[in-house]
Parts: sequence; C-alpha cells; structure tokens
Amino acid sequence: MEETVFSKIIKGEIPCVKIYEDEDNFAFLDINPNTKGHTLVITKEPYENILKVPEDKHCSLMKAIIKVTKAVKEGTGAAGVNVYTNCGKEAGQEVFHLHFHIIPRYNKKEFPLFPNKKYESENEKNEIAKKIINSF
Ligand code: AMP
Repeated sequence: MEETVFSKIIKGEIPCVKIYEDEDNFAFLDINPNTKGHTLVITKEPYENILKVPEDKHCSLMKAIIKVTKAVKEGTGAAGVNVYTNCGKEAGQEVFHLHFHIIPRYNKKEFPLFPNKKYESENEKNEIAKKIINSF
C-alpha cells in the first residue's frame, strides 16, 4: 500500500489537529471544513477506500466512527451530523486513503444534500435491485 498524505499526518510529518487515536484508527480536523468541527476518521493502514478494509477491521473502524461522531456532535453542540465516505474519484474521492467525513450540522441550509431522482419504471427499479442482490 502506498504512502499517502494521511500516512504522513499519522507519522507527524505533516501537522494536524488531532482529535482521536486508537490501535487501528486516527482522527483529525479537516483542513478545509464544510462546517466548523469537520473531522476525518481514517484507518492507520492506508487502505485505498472502504471496499479495501479487511473484515476483521470492520468492527474497530465502525466503533471509532461512532465514538468520534458522538464527540463531534456533543463538543460542537451541533443539531445533526453527516457521516459519509467517498469511494472512487467519480464519487468525489481525492485522497486515496480511507477516510470518513464527520460533519457537524448547525442548520440544514449550510449546504444541500445529494439530489433525489426517480426511477423511470418499476422494472428499472427491480432490475437494479436484482443486480445488487446477485452480487453478494
Ligand atoms: P475526499 O474528497 O473525500 O477524498 O476528502 C479529502 C479531504 O481531505 C478533504 O475534505 C480535504 O480538505 C482533506 N484534507 C486534505 N489534506 C488535508 C490535510 N493535510 N489535513 C487535513 N485535511 C486534509
């Protein structure tokens, strides 16, 4: 796995404002926050994205995400919080080292959420569901 800008942050070679650390995970403030308190939770191993995290690390990662999300919400006093990860450049991923965005939301107007679309037909909807289910 290639070294990334986030690996350098973990090693202290690039400065960050650290929020949390455990055996497998690390969290720090995003340098260009969507809102004040925007935090990134990353794995110490530079897995490229969420699909590359081995199963025996899923639990540890999810625990860290929930723990940091609770602290971000409580510490900022935000009314809500967005928790998401971008996977692949088409999805907006720019740093290819798994990270979850934890974004405190003070009000709904700060920025819009993803737009909702409609399926063209019941058939189209059922076909896409079938393809997903067949991929387990
Ligand atoms: P993504 O588009 O999901 O890959 O998000 C990458 C995030 O990393 C962006 O929100 C950046 O602002 C953030 N980022 C990039 N470099 C740094 C850095 N040195 N310190 C903190 N956050 C960073």
